[in-house]
Amino acid sequence: MDSKSFWLAYEALKSNFTALEKPYKLTFAITMNCQSRCLTCNIWQLRPSNELSLEEIRTFAQKNPYFRWVSITGGEPFLRQDIVEIVRAFKENWKGLYLVTIPTNSLCREGKIIDNLREMAMLGVPKITITVSLDGYRELHDKIRGVPGNYDRALSLFKAIRDLSKEYKNLGVVFGYTISTMNNGSFEETYNKVRHDVPGLTLNDFHINLAQISGAYYRNEGAKIVADKEAALKDLNFAYSGRVFSLGPEEIIEASFLRNLIRFADTSKAPMKCRSMDSSFFLDNWGNIYPSIMWDYKIANLREIDFDLSKAWNGERAAEARSIIAQGKDPQHWTSCEAYQTILGSAHRLFL
Ligand code: SF4
Repeated sequence: MDSKSFWLAYEALKSNFTALEKPYKLTFAITMNCQSRCLTCNIWQLRPSNELSLEEIRTFAQKNPYFRWVSITGGEPFLRQDIVEIVRAFKENWKGLYLVTIPTNSLCREGKIIDNLREMAMLGVPKITITVSLDGYRELHDKIRGVPGNYDRALSLFKAIRDLSKEYKNLGVVFGYTISTMNNGSFEETYNKVRHDVPGLTLNDFHINLAQISGAYYRNEGAKIVADKEAALKDLNFAYSGRVFSLGPEEIIEASFLRNLIRFADTSKAPMKCRSMDSSFFLDNWGNIYPSIMWDYKIANLREIDFDLSKAWNGERAAEARSIIAQGKDPQHWTSCEAYQTILGSAHRLFL
């Protein structure tokens, strides 16, 4: 274990015993621009302006230099021409930064994404994981995403990143599969078809999520997208039972994520108390701070607090949010944006 992963593990373990003074994980939507046409999410319908500039992001990174893990999200993150500079700002200011994750819909030019990733990999962040969205086999994925040819582009990009990762050992790639009413019960068929198109693929190359409703983030309130329970459980059990889990820490955590996703699909109840506003929070493209992508409960705006997070983190609104979470009255969810730090902050339940 290198020193950066050690300190990330230390913070996560510490969160089991005491409230953290500062969060160690940031989920950050760097843009809400998106060229997709997804049936499960309405972000693509936004025409955002006045998003945080690179200078503002640099200021935020300088004033709050303690993050160890950043999940960059969107919109489509690679639509930002300065995405490499954003990661550079984090790397230069956050000395303990260990992990950067970025999803993509594969609709930007592949050569540009690969060039961006090569530059990012050379920055020296210990671990960068790219999630290529894939919600079905060819016809199904293109229908859900509303863009003909998206399946072929996703597979081509996955293979190109996998090739690049042979050169840069700190770079990794998985497919991100979201189960919704549009595809539930189709995961096994999708896996078998994708496996035919991507030699050497295994179930370990997939990260599974359930489509969820979020007014503040996905803008999909009222949409009928939450998967049918029986079909979702069929998909999840196939994904879990066919996966090979090693004894490494990341695989143990992934196994816990999937087991608890199955529980959530079965009960619609979050299996553990959320660790947002303790270990993590969500920052949107306009600088608004929320506990998570799933809770439309604005804490503050970075522009109004001079980009100094401590002014919001230690304020009344944050304390109220923590109190609501402690009472279990926050929205019930189990998303990958929040679940991993929740698992890490509930270590006694890691193997349950
Ligand atoms: S799910 Fe992703 S790709 Fe689809 S509209 Fe939302 S942000 Fe865009």
